[in-house]
Amino acid sequence: MSKFFSEKYASLVPYTPGEQPRDMQYIKLNTNESPYPPSKKAQDLASEAAKRLQLYSDPECTALVNELASLYNIKPNQILLTNGSDEILNFAFMAFCDSNTPAMFADITYGFYKVFAQINCLPYVEVPLNDDFTLSKADYLNAGKTIFIANPNAPTGLALNLDDIEEIVKANPNNVVVIDEAYVDFGAQSAISLVDKYDNLLVTQTFSKSRSMAGARLGFGIGCEALINDLKTVKYSTNPYNVNSMTMAAGLGCLKDEEYTRKNCNQIIETRQYTAKELKKLGFEMTDSATNFLFCKHPNIDGGELYLKLKEAGVLVRHFDTDKLCQYNRITIGTRQQMDALIQKTKTILEDKK
Ligand code: PMP
Repeated sequence: MSKFFSEKYASLVPYTPGEQPRDMQYIKLNTNESPYPPSKKAQDLASEAAKRLQLYSDPECTALVNELASLYNIKPNQILLTNGSDEILNFAFMAFCDSNTPAMFADITYGFYKVFAQINCLPYVEVPLNDDFTLSKADYLNAGKTIFIANPNAPTGLALNLDDIEEIVKANPNNVVVIDEAYVDFGAQSAISLVDKYDNLLVTQTFSKSRSMAGARLGFGIGCEALINDLKTVKYSTNPYNVNSMTMAAGLGCLKDEEYTRKNCNQIIETRQYTAKELKKLGFEMTDSATNFLFCKHPNIDGGELYLKLKEAGVLVRHFDTDKLCQYNRITIGTRQQMDALIQKTKTILEDKK
């Protein structure tokens, strides 16, 4: 740290992204990316947009906003596009939390929530999940705080149903409830259907997972017009051109090819079910994932040891070195071929341990 670094960040612990190694061809199952390339339409429109990069991007993301509005049957003024959903989540911390209104989220959830609270110097409360990693709804009723729930949750993979989400939103009329639906397309119910009914609900989604566009950085939030206007105030006070024009074009191409997205999601769900079955045969225990990853542990091998041995064998998975998570690994669902390689290598590692 230099002597110039602001004191307010002295104890800030930044988010640690999953490894993005460039040194060898790993089977990369560690950052929940899609194993499939972006839609051809997304690629083609992005290349076209590259020819006009001398111009600033459209700060209103008009074409994308209109396309999303018709896809989700909402009004264009209920949507804000951002640089990945990380950005809209950060905007929500900035807009809806302060010293009187702390943020509240599970103790085991997306690690960035804590960092967003810290960088914005906001108070926050971490609510312990149950021992089986389920969330206790009662903890979130009349909370008096701005609530952040990843649904499905990461890294546990577990989803709440829409009735539970609605009950939480309804029970906090004076606070914003943010539902982070980064993984919703792999098996959970979206709360977008509730945004016209509740003025305190913000739903965030991303193009990074089901839409194969992690590298393009595109996310969005959907809520009532007033909430979206608050978020726009934050956006126009930080980075009006937060979505670049190639990404915008790719996003538009992607939305015009919904069938491709749906096909890929179905394939990933099928491969998840296959992988879960095969890993259970090897003795793994896991949560019931509604995502594009499995969260699993094995009685005969430590999570950290399996992670390292798989890495030596050329397969990257995600390991979290904390008390409650260190037995587990989070394994992204890749292609069937990639998962067969993972299963085979895991089998060998377990046999070598006997
Ligand atoms: N929410 C959750 C639960 C995530 O796991 C991630 C991805 N790491 C994000 C949000 C942010 O994803 P992105 O910024 O790529 O949209």
